[in-house]
Amino acid sequence: MDSYDKKDVDLRNINITKFSGVGDKVAQKLAKLNLHNAQDVLFHMPFRYEDRTQYTSLNSATSNTSVLARGEITDVVQLSHGRRSLVIQINDGSGRLTIRMFHFSYSQRQAFIVGRWVECFGEVVLRPTGKEMIHPEYRIVTDKPNRPKNDRLTPVYPSTDGVSQHLLRKISDQALNKYLPQVQELLPMELIGRYQFCSLSEALQALHRPTAGVDLEAMLETDSPPFQRLICEELLSFHLGMQRVRMERQKERSLSLVSEKSEQLIERFIQNLGFKLTNAQNKVVAEIIVDLKLSQPMMRLVQGDVGSGKTVVAAVAVLQAVSAGKQVAIMAPTELLAEQLLRHMSSWLSEMDINVGWLAGKVTAAQRRPILADLASGELKVLVGTHALFQKGVEFHELGLVIIDEQHRFGVGQRLALRDKANGIVPHQLVMSATPIPRTLAMSFYADIDVSTIDELPPGRIPIETVVINADMKRDLVIERVYKACLAKTQVYWVCSLIDESEHINAQAVADVEQELTTRLQNVRIGVIHGRLKPAEKEEMMRRFRDHEIDLLLATTVIEVGVDVPNASLMIIENSERMGLSQLHQLRGRVGRGSQKSVCVLMYRAPLSENAKVRLQTMRETNDGFEIARKDLELRGPGELLGVKQTGAVSMRVANLVRDQHWLSAVEEDAQWLAEHYPANVELLLNRWLAYQQQYANA
Ligand code: ADP
Ligand code: MG
Repeated sequence: MDSYDKKDVDLRNINITKFSGVGDKVAQKLAKLNLHNAQDVLFHMPFRYEDRTQYTSLNSATSNTSVLARGEITDVVQLSHGRRSLVIQINDGSGRLTIRMFHFSYSQRQAFIVGRWVECFGEVVLRPTGKEMIHPEYRIVTDKPNRPKNDRLTPVYPSTDGVSQHLLRKISDQALNKYLPQVQELLPMELIGRYQFCSLSEALQALHRPTAGVDLEAMLETDSPPFQRLICEELLSFHLGMQRVRMERQKERSLSLVSEKSEQLIERFIQNLGFKLTNAQNKVVAEIIVDLKLSQPMMRLVQGDVGSGKTVVAAVAVLQAVSAGKQVAIMAPTELLAEQLLRHMSSWLSEMDINVGWLAGKVTAAQRRPILADLASGELKVLVGTHALFQKGVEFHELGLVIIDEQHRFGVGQRLALRDKANGIVPHQLVMSATPIPRTLAMSFYADIDVSTIDELPPGRIPIETVVINADMKRDLVIERVYKACLAKTQVYWVCSLIDESEHINAQAVADVEQELTTRLQNVRIGVIHGRLKPAEKEEMMRRFRDHEIDLLLATTVIEVGVDVPNASLMIIENSERMGLSQLHQLRGRVGRGSQKSVCVLMYRAPLSENAKVRLQTMRETNDGFEIARKDLELRGPGELLGVKQTGAVSMRVANLVRDQHWLSAVEEDAQWLAEHYPANVELLLNRWLAYQQQYANA
């Protein structure tokens, strides 16, 4: 049926060290780019191209573009006052150019001799003294060069420290010459015909070494034919992989969480809450309970805006499991968040005579011992904590349900580890996220997952007013506003992180602002919280804020999620232009929880990038987390939004699930058709594309 097995060379078996110029050391560096074998090299695509196929005359070279130029050396000067530099003038008859170098060896300098010719490639910048190239790539020749050496566009590949473009071009040259003829065409003719695709080898050749004269921009657009061809093949494989995961999942067994008592117990719980569940909450609760009664593991994502009341929904799931005599693990990504969960769960569940255990990194061995013992015996039914929950030594008696809050911060690996705690039986999983994403994307990202959405906020919430303020011009007004709010017994958050990466710098920023505010806000009780505090100190500070022993809480973004202080109705965020949309939305969600109207002040420093302008404007215009997530998706792409960049859950070679969304439904049909008619190709496609994201394929 298929004629593809005649070339049975598996390019994955050709190790990267077989390439000339690649020893063990270089191979290690290339591994960081996921380049392990000949196939990887063929599928490592350039992200842009340089045109070195023709000389640009110096008079027509425009500034801020990279060009290949040539010229006769007319002057060479070494400057030693100020910064040591070498300045070379060249002239090609049409105009002149200055080449400036700050790093150069003696022999390099000696080679620049007036009368010789230079061929150089680099970006042209316009200076008062004329056009310049700084540190271009160059070669010196004795006579005027006639024609550039390249007749193809020069690819620029994604790279990493210590891996030069030169090396990447060298190995891709080898891959194209030696292995391209062996690359297998895995799309059947019918499919290629339907989409009028080029062949795979044509596509690869065209993308690695485009011929001169093609439109550079168009080459990199998704709608260029070679790109289309690869995107479609990757998405198709991705979809086939997902079907595979789904089939595997159907074989898995879980404990069905059924009990006669549960209905009554849950009813009592809901009666005692002191508020009525929203329709959206009721709907999601019902969906979860249906799932939990099945002996197939639930895998459900509950997405709902900040404050939509996800925790109480999770509590109902806990009751369903516990009433069936099974255990529940509840996990959050940070200690602060986990503590919030613990507080909510304990207060609700203790009324139902259910004990809640606590396990985090800082829990001592002595405190840990009785918890672990009760867990292993099955005495303790509910355990809340951080990553510590899936460390060695944590053994459950009968783990029936795993709940993960703010799911997008967890890697697939961590989820799997927890699942493994259940001795072959796969526990039901409930993941909660305040970062809603479109359904198709959720499915693509989390393999086989059902999505429930809480699309309604509890009644009585007053929308938060958001104002955007230039800190350089109106900081005083903001401080005045804070002062008035505190006098009126309102509490205030002041967030002043610089950047997330360095807690040291953040702590410094907090200290500076603390001094400023202490001086300017007489009689206002100020508390400070940042990532460098010990968990107990953080917790104590949060308690004092909750109990209104503090008026103003000065914080880094550690307060981002999980803090619930209804009397706080003013939120000040400094450097808001540096924060992502979902982060801003999470922070803003700390206010607007009480009966007063809340205000969020976003301070920024000019100038704003286009992107930052859109973010701040979006924040000012809407309170709707779904709308904000949509914008965020547009601006940043799903990888960053979902935090999978760090966790490496999904990485594609050429396709992009957001950009290429329009493909998804066609690919779904094609996958079905392929599986029916060309099963052998399916295997080969999975090998080609999914080995790259192995972790994901195993999820
Ligand atoms: P999130 O979805 O952000 O995790 P929470 O579960 O923390 O939201 O709920 C936010 C607040 O709203 C909590 O104080 C919670 O008790 C309260 N809450 C939840 N559901 C309702 C409801 N139906 N009516 C009124 N308040 C509710
Ligand atoms: Mg929450």
